[in-house]
Amino acid sequence: MNIDSEAIKLVRDAEDKLKDIYKDIDDIEYINSKKVLEALYINNVTEDCFNMTTGYGYNDLGREVIEKVYSTIFKSEDALVRCQFISGTHALTTALFACLRPGDTMLSISGKPYDTLDEVIGIKNNDSSLISFGIKYEQMDLIDNEFDYDKIKEVITNKKIKLIEIQRSKGYSTRKSIDIDALERVIKFVKEIDKDIIIMIDNCYCEFVSTKEPIEIGADIVVGSLIKNLGGGITSNGGYIVGRRDLIKLCAERLNVPGEGKEVGPSLGFNKQLLQGLFFAPSVVASALKTAILTSYIMGNLGYDVDPMYDDKRVDIVQNIIFNDRDKLIKYCEAIQSASPIDAKFKPVPDDMPGYSDKVIMAAGTFVQGSSIELSADGPLRSPYIAYQQGSLTYGYGRLAVMKVISDINKKE
Ligand SMILES: *Cc1c(COP(=O)(O)O)cnc(C)c1O
Repeated sequence: MNIDSEAIKLVRDAEDKLKDIYKDIDDIEYINSKKVLEALYINNVTEDCFNMTTGYGYNDLGREVIEKVYSTIFKSEDALVRCQFISGTHALTTALFACLRPGDTMLSISGKPYDTLDEVIGIKNNDSSLISFGIKYEQMDLIDNEFDYDKIKEVITNKKIKLIEIQRSKGYSTRKSIDIDALERVIKFVKEIDKDIIIMIDNCYCEFVSTKEPIEIGADIVVGSLIKNLGGGITSNGGYIVGRRDLIKLCAERLNVPGEGKEVGPSLGFNKQLLQGLFFAPSVVASALKTAILTSYIMGNLGYDVDPMYDDKRVDIVQNIIFNDRDKLIKYCEAIQSASPIDAKFKPVPDDMPGYSDKVIMAAGTFVQGSSIELSADGPLRSPYIAYQQGSLTYGYGRLAVMKVISDINKKE
């Protein structure tokens, strides 16, 4: 791997300094592991749940139990956890189309949503977008990483808003991710003015990073991907939606068919990996967080801009390294790719990606294609040339990758 002794020493010294922070991560893992284990117990998960259905998927015990397990963990009325979701974007799209009708207005209060939603909403023209169906869309940016309370109040008192979307993780933006306390404040604020507004949360990358999830603090519907945190690196595709029963019914009938909602959907042998992934998730999220913290500490000390800082409170598993330099971003992603288990000899090349406007470079030598709970680094090729790094299934492999990156950077400069 060509890891030099300097790199090993840097990582060992860093780990000495990071002991207390790692301990806090372990405490969060403990609480979330307990949450998962209790949910498996309460909902009586048995080996029968691994059986599968095909075809229409009627009477799929495992599928039904898994959705109850998710409801217990998220403290939601109901849940939709399906391998028929292609991705997180598909689950988000399903939720938006399920909740909104022609003439309704959707409002984003955390800035422009994730890039792959541009065509879903119609920010970028698409004949199948929400806007093409006559749904109106508005957005407002955060101000200094805070919600714009004055503007929110003005908009929601002066016109009827059907749904507010809040994306917790920063996506490919430069703002900070939104922690659960800030989320709770803004949800309370909105509900006091108009309790009927549906609050929908894009929870991608945030699950199990803290000990509370958004339904507990007032959100109506929460959406995420299963090839991120909750898949634990085991689940090979899918998405989840948890929330109010009436909304989950709408989502199920949008994913499937009006009149055939949650009752159908073959599990096709997926149930075991959904459960096992969830079982691993608290530990895998902790490994991803430690890898992110180590990266932040070391890259920060080497003089690069990083966000979050190593000792910032974590909201998601994403670590930004801001290069302000196209070539350095590419080199970094190459080093991550070469420290991956799969396709390690490949060189990532910036290219167009479906759903993204700028060329994107992606290092993802992963077992599951595009899985970003596995170690991965990517970024759009636009200033300020930020690497968005996520994951590592184990901390052992995460620290090896950090050693590899610093060895390569030292050599090439
Ligand atoms: C990854 C991500 C998505 C999209 O999920 P995919 O599974 O990649 O489609 C949406 N929102 C945020 C904040 C994300 O991080």
